[in-house]
Amino acid sequence: MIPYGKMTPQERRGEYERVSGEFADLKARGLKLNMARGKPGKEQLDMVSDLFELMRTPEEYVSDGVDVRNYGELSGLPAAKRLFADILGCRPEQVFVGGNASLQLMYDTVSKAYTHGLLHSPQPWCREKTVKWLCPCPGYDRHFMVTESFGFELIPVPMTAEGPDMDAVEQAIQDPSVKGMWNVPKYSNPDGIIYSAEVIRRIAAMKPAAPDFLLMWDNAYCIHEFEGDYVEFPDILSECARYGNEDMVFEFASTSKVTMPGAGISCFACSEANMEYLKKLLTIQTIGFDKVNQQRHVLYLKDKAHTLSLMKRHAAVLGPKFRAVLDALDREIAPLEIAQWQRPKGGYFISLNAMPGTARRTWELCREAGVTLTGAGATFPYGKDPADSNLRIAPSLPPVAELEQAIAIFCVCLKLSALEKLGV
Ligand code: PLP
Repeated sequence: MIPYGKMTPQERRGEYERVSGEFADLKARGLKLNMARGKPGKEQLDMVSDLFELMRTPEEYVSDGVDVRNYGELSGLPAAKRLFADILGCRPEQVFVGGNASLQLMYDTVSKAYTHGLLHSPQPWCREKTVKWLCPCPGYDRHFMVTESFGFELIPVPMTAEGPDMDAVEQAIQDPSVKGMWNVPKYSNPDGIIYSAEVIRRIAAMKPAAPDFLLMWDNAYCIHEFEGDYVEFPDILSECARYGNEDMVFEFASTSKVTMPGAGISCFACSEANMEYLKKLLTIQTIGFDKVNQQRHVLYLKDKAHTLSLMKRHAAVLGPKFRAVLDALDREIAPLEIAQWQRPKGGYFISLNAMPGTARRTWELCREAGVTLTGAGATFPYGKDPADSNLRIAPSLPPVAELEQAIAIFCVCLKLSALEKLGV
């Protein structure tokens, strides 16, 4: 195969006709395939459904002397705190166990900063003239939407293979109106990269001009390897504490992709001073989260080692799906030199950079042929990718046979949009 950029106009014309024919055939099949969201597949959900066989005896409703069916324990069951602390490498006193979704806890933390201010805020953020927010991108669309919804000004920060561009971050935080930053430090959404030790050190050592700078550390994929062994990862709370920044960071995690999305448990972890401050606000908001589900998860997951053995079983399902996508891209796209992509070993996504100016067109062609992808641009603040290049592929939901069809269609659409861009 000749790279598209090196073809003669005549060769390109021939290729365009051939690929257009393939596209028409695929479209005529009337398929309906989805690679849009990082949802576990049915096989994974079936695998953990024995969760509901637990809690059949009265004794199982008691944890550390607490009847989990009753009010109490605002910050979560001690055993659930121990479980998350074990997984994240922090201390149980630093953990607040919440409800079914970490995104809700993230939204709520930003919301509290806005309405009440954080521990070190001179005033609630709603009284600030401008609030600016750092968004490493490509990144997670829902993060960006949270901070956009409060009217913050979103500042894109380029992602590198090691994490966010720290020169850009260190420069930006000299502005006191820059109040925070999103991070997905392990198997980032969508790049699937792991922040390097040096990037983590520089983040933990930051000296932002804002006294109430909020480092959002969304460790959503902390134990989500689908290839190879579990990769150890530093505890951001102690890293920040080492530089006198213990109150700067809030870490988040959940069991959404360990047990069931929307029916799992979530947590935030922070300094004890932050915990005291937030508990005073949270106790007005709720008497407590669902401790029955917390207990179910404690009994089911037990501890980090046992949870990691469950993650190996998820990996056995997810690994072949990611490999099917990467193999198709290597075979169909790599020789044409029209896109680059990452090769993650964990997380839920593959991030692909198409030829600039072709991502939206590729997305449209996929939709026409029955394949739903995350919207082009979604991985950037305000949904606008300045290069119109990044596309996020989520291979987890469809069974392998469907996924192979979906990625075949994706490759054809990528080729067509590149040929259109190069001129035929
Ligand atoms: N954070 C990241 C980076 C995600 O990719 C996702 C889901 O895709 C979530 C959070 C959502 O987590 P939860 O279900 O705990 O709200």
